[in-house]
Amino acid sequence: MATIIRGKDVADHVLSGVKADVAALLARGIEPCLAVILVGDDPASQVYVRKKKEKCAELGIRSLEFTLPAETKQEELLALIAKLNSDPGVHGILCQLPLPKHLDEQTIVRAVRPEKDVDGFTCRISADAERDLMPCTPAGVMEILRYAGISVAGKRCCVVGRSNIVGKPMATLLLLADGTVTVCHSRTKDLPAVTREADILVAAVGKPRFITADMVKEGAAVIDVGVNRGADKKILGDVDFDAVEKKASFITPVPGGVGVMTIAMLMKNTVRAAALQNPAGQDS
Ligand code: NDP
Repeated sequence: MATIIRGKDVADHVLSGVKADVAALLARGIEPCLAVILVGDDPASQVYVRKKKEKCAELGIRSLEFTLPAETKQEELLALIAKLNSDPGVHGILCQLPLPKHLDEQTIVRAVRPEKDVDGFTCRISADAERDLMPCTPAGVMEILRYAGISVAGKRCCVVGRSNIVGKPMATLLLLADGTVTVCHSRTKDLPAVTREADILVAAVGKPRFITADMVKEGAAVIDVGVNRGADKKILGDVDFDAVEKKASFITPVPGGVGVMTIAMLMKNTVRAAALQNPAGQDS
């Protein structure tokens, strides 16, 4: 039976460091501040925004919310981002996705200054991780691996999914940690044969219970990024947890796994952004 890695345990560990960093910034008169932009009234987005604001409040991070109507024009949204980009009191900016269809997500995401892009969507990911605002979900997975003592160096890693926000940056981070990385997608031939090679298997597909036990190597570490709604509205991961748990050495549950880490990494990025924008030694 696999060891279940609880996202909350890892998040608590990360957030205790974030709390210390907030205290150090406050002692220098800097109040870390996150601006959250919500366009439209998508109920799931409203919940995500509320959770982010609550987490900010818990940690002593100031949050500003900008709620715009669904019919907001692209120029209006870009003007708001430009204003926040040039406000020295705002250290992080995030625009909750998905945006209404008439807005070009790529243009909006790229409009946020990289130093304030706390979602890490524009991050080019370099080996100098201390200066980067890493994409939150893949960075959260790396924290999970570290916390559980799973070393990546030399291991066969397989990422199923190649999206710009999860699959691709996930593969890059595993590569930077010296894993031997394979990225799979909908055109991969004989997917189970590829996933069965993996010592570390990351599922970011968006299909409930897609990764079945026959696709997993005995003793593999299986990280489930998926968040899917079942017919009964229950949240399901991409991994068939009950069956895979019997075969893997480590596994993350859904809910309660990677999702909890994503928000913790957003908080970490916000505080890191505030520190990078206010280097010590430049206080007045
Ligand atoms: P996307 O839909 O953007 O990407 C899904 C990827 O899965 C694509 O690369 C696609 O391949 C691949 N795929 C789809 N079907 C198959 C198949 N049959 N075989 C192999 N590969 C396949 O999703 P995201 O990357 O945005 O998200 C993935 C999952 O992670 C979702 O469930 C999402 O809700 C969840 N998520 C969770 C987060 C968290 O905080 N826990 C944060 C972000 C996402 P192709 O490129 O060929 O189409």
